[in-house]
Amino acid sequence: MATARIVIVGAGPAGIRCAETLLAAGFKPILIDENRRDGGQIYRRQPQGFTRNYATLYGTEAHKARDLHDSFDRLRGAIDYRPDTLVWNLTPGQLCCVKQGKHTTVDYDALILCTGATDRLMPIEGWQLAGTYSLGGAQIALKSQAVSIGHRVVFMGSGPLLYLVASQYVKAGANVAGVLDTSPLSKHIGALPKLLARPGLLFTGMKLLAQLYRAKIPVHSGIQPLQVLGDASSGVSAVRVRTAKGETLNVECDAVALGYHLRPETQLADLAGCRMRFDEASGQWWLAVDEEGRTSVSGVYAAGDGSKIRGADAAEHAGRLVAMALLEDLHQPVNAGLRDETRQALAVMDQFRLGLAQAFPWPAEQAKALPDTAIVCRCEMISAGELRAVVSEKGACEVNRAKAFSRVGMGRCQGRYCSQAGAEVIAAAAGVSVQQVGRQRGQAPVKPLSMLTEEVSP
Ligand SMILES: Cc1cc2nc3c(=O)[nH]c(=O)nc-3n(C[C@H](O)[C@H](O)[C@H](O)COP(=O)(O)OP(=O)(O)OC[C@H]3O[C@@H](n4cnc5c(N)ncnc54)[C@H](O)[C@@H]3O)c2cc1C
Repeated sequence: MATARIVIVGAGPAGIRCAETLLAAGFKPILIDENRRDGGQIYRRQPQGFTRNYATLYGTEAHKARDLHDSFDRLRGAIDYRPDTLVWNLTPGQLCCVKQGKHTTVDYDALILCTGATDRLMPIEGWQLAGTYSLGGAQIALKSQAVSIGHRVVFMGSGPLLYLVASQYVKAGANVAGVLDTSPLSKHIGALPKLLARPGLLFTGMKLLAQLYRAKIPVHSGIQPLQVLGDASSGVSAVRVRTAKGETLNVECDAVALGYHLRPETQLADLAGCRMRFDEASGQWWLAVDEEGRTSVSGVYAAGDGSKIRGADAAEHAGRLVAMALLEDLHQPVNAGLRDETRQALAVMDQFRLGLAQAFPWPAEQAKALPDTAIVCRCEMISAGELRAVVSEKGACEVNRAKAFSRVGMGRCQGRYCSQAGAEVIAAAAGVSVQQVGRQRGQAPVKPLSMLTEEVSP
């Protein structure tokens, strides 16, 4: 068994395929995940004791989920798997973890970050009312605990997850009051040539839409979100939007799921000092990696949605590829044929990714249109008006300065859900591009954690 201490963070599709490749090459990686079970986001396993079958849980992706779970079950005893363990900080060569409130450190020679992505959110007036969830949160409630977020649910935002989660709710028998997409139909059609890079996936997407129409769910594209209506005591009562025809539409509901595709989880890479780059297609900062997953910091690698949002199939390929990159750097033999095939497969998936970005653009213009009273940072309850004031009154046109003056991004989420929209508000107020206002630096702890004082062995 080779001796380098290799740590993988994230037991999703990327992390599992990476661990599998390293194990096959004679290494025994440590695989850490904050979840209690393996599978990551898409192939999230239900809690022990739940008995829903694969088809119910994963739909068209059931065979892929089973394949990944089976692979993991074969690996589990041969690697050093540490579930229920959050990596909350790092220093060169060492990770700081917390498991059930107890602190532990893990040393590494090579670190592979397979940390996935989370919801990308744009504020709307009233989104702090009880009953407003992220799309991912709505899906996790259904997938993990088989519950709906409300009795009558509106899905609003943009991106493939919008239609996917709405159709999963319909399939589960929930009452879906409407699907409200900010991207216009013309964008969907314009993106078809790129989306045809993966015709099977495009067809699956069209089938989802057909399912929604068959179930008579009102689907509106090209809408402008105006307000989540309701009050502090009873929560959400409706969603108000402007339709593509310019009419105001109120859709009654007691819960709303919001989301605009995904944003990569890059905080650990940021703390490791890895270089970031601005991705024009999605309009957000991504981790800079080479084609195989090497970051700018020697010994630190990344794969899957945490470095480039290309979906689960790509994450599996990227996991294998990054393992091969590490093996090569450790002067171990790699299968050059497999590496080239994997690269080619990823290039096709990249084309599809660009198609998705074109079909479902991030609605940056909404930040400009937000009323001053709309809350941008829900943890600290900072409004768009307060944020604009730090630009106009303090001249804070860089996001970290604006954070210091306003507290946007200083709360429990550490800016993971508000910093991108906050940057758009600052950019619009300052009259510059969002790239110019920069990105919020990662801070430890990267996620909320509770901690006891004594040390525990892993
Ligand atoms: C909420 C959500 C729902 C999605 N639903 C679908 C869907 O239904 N269909 C679909 O095709 N795609 C879906 N996607 C996209 C899909 O999940 C990803 O493309 C795919 O899972 C990427 O695989 P990955 O291995 O890169 O990351 P993930 O599968 O996200 O795995 C990352 C893992 O890293 C762990 N992790 C992250 N940070 C830390 C840390 N600091 N310490 C310890 N562990 C950590 C997480 O717990 C997670 O298990 C969804 C994405 C999200 C965010």
